[in-house]
Amino acid sequence: MTVHAKAQAATAVASAALREYRHFIDGQYVAGSSGRTFANVNPATGQAIGRVHEAGREEVEAAVGAARAALRGEWGRMALGDRVEVLYRVADGINARFDEFLEAECADTGKPFSLARHVDIPRGAANFKIFADVIKNVPTEAFRMDTPDGRGALNYAIRVPKGVVAVVCPWNLPLLLMTWKVGPALACGNAVVVKPSEETPATATLLGEVMNEAGVPRGVYNVVHGFGPNSAGAFLTEHPGIDAITFTGETATGTAIMKAAAVGVRDVSFELGGKNPALVFADCDMDKAIEGTVRSVFANCGQVCLGTERVYVERPIFEEFVARLKAGAEKLTLGDPRDPATSMGPLISQVHRDKVLSYYRRAKELGATVVTGGDVAAMPAPFGAGSWIQPTIWTGLSDDSPIMREEIFGPCCHVSPFDDEDDVIRRANDTKYGLACTVWTESATRAHRVAAQMQAGLIWVNSWFLRDLRTPFGGMKESGIGREGGVHSLEFYTEMKNVCLKL
Ligand code: NAD
Repeated sequence: MTVHAKAQAATAVASAALREYRHFIDGQYVAGSSGRTFANVNPATGQAIGRVHEAGREEVEAAVGAARAALRGEWGRMALGDRVEVLYRVADGINARFDEFLEAECADTGKPFSLARHVDIPRGAANFKIFADVIKNVPTEAFRMDTPDGRGALNYAIRVPKGVVAVVCPWNLPLLLMTWKVGPALACGNAVVVKPSEETPATATLLGEVMNEAGVPRGVYNVVHGFGPNSAGAFLTEHPGIDAITFTGETATGTAIMKAAAVGVRDVSFELGGKNPALVFADCDMDKAIEGTVRSVFANCGQVCLGTERVYVERPIFEEFVARLKAGAEKLTLGDPRDPATSMGPLISQVHRDKVLSYYRRAKELGATVVTGGDVAAMPAPFGAGSWIQPTIWTGLSDDSPIMREEIFGPCCHVSPFDDEDDVIRRANDTKYGLACTVWTESATRAHRVAAQMQAGLIWVNSWFLRDLRTPFGGMKESGIGREGGVHSLEFYTEMKNVCLKL
């Protein structure tokens, strides 16, 4: 790991006045009636850069009411072609204000600009275009059936929006993951109330301006800020005016939200935690496997649900793989998020760093060999108070260690050797999670054989994070409920009803 020399000359510290993040309800920015606000902190510097209004039940009520009114109004009556055009304009609007979104996302998360420029913001825009295209092109099913009188009947299905959808979001890829839900929800004709993470209020708020500029009728897109329990998140998911809840975040939070959704029997779509394995076979292309594993472990400072935290390497290449993974980790450059040379930012907050550090300490106590890292990263001013941490690799722990079983969500992994394909599949699957898995092998037969047996919703062979947005996305076991992406999103964001017409 290197700390970039130019960090001292950084420009990342916001010297401007504190930003104020209000709720976006019925097409307008409104302050919370309680007057309560909380700090918005840039995790790269540890400095407060804004104040966020905290929603109480009153704001949630107003947002849900505005969304219900939008469904009864112009939005509910809008022709599909017009709705598609509106969504294209939202995508264009994000692209037109690309740099504003980039600044806002990087200030909230501390992530390198180079990452957000290529991943977060373009995907934020693409999520509106792709689902506009999906809804425009999706067929409905029809069945001509026989009847005793010989004249038959025609059955055909109609898709209708679910209604008002609550969208509860995490902080790791704020715009990307939020629009991944809002895009299809609006494409299907729903109205939404978004609850961004308390850590990352900026891009959801900015999107309100784009919605207005794009001609999205008021009340279709609403944002309420706040926390989870006893705050905006719980008030929203408990609200009886919410027809369905889509959530990305921790499995424990998903459990709490599912309890709230049970009242009124509301539908849920959950993208939850993971403890994703990588299986590296001796017949892999080592260069590709190292490059891919460095990315899948350390991208976004390890704060990617799809990221790898358990690496299993076939014994003949174990020593070489560990040495090269260490070299890859040590090449990562921590520094000014604006600097194109920076490849790793900080963790999202000091609280999250404390959690990740508790695993770093625990690994040592349990007797792990610390191959590299294992501590906070000391950074020069103006980043000294940021939540920086060293990229870390361990070996030597058993499969039942908490380091191998619990999601850490930091820039770290444990590497274990294996001798046998069946055995490594069993070990990799021995987890309560089932989100993603990577397999590194040059044998096509082995790739298919292993992929078929992995208990995960997403399996990559010789790649990571590569994805066609039309494909199903979601996790098995405690990593989620349902699939989103392409037509699969329509299953959640619409109700289908069948019309049977006797001929
Ligand atoms: P989190 O569960 O702590 O919070 C997510 C959101 O839920 C926040 O907006 C929070 O305010 C809200 N919330 C918390 N408690 C709530 C409650 N009781 N009722 C309603 N809302 C509540 O998750 P996080 O720390 O923001 O994100 C990290 C987690 O997200 C990791 O576990 C990661 O694996 C997961 N994640 C999963 C995916 C995926 O696609 N499977 C993608 C990204 C992140």
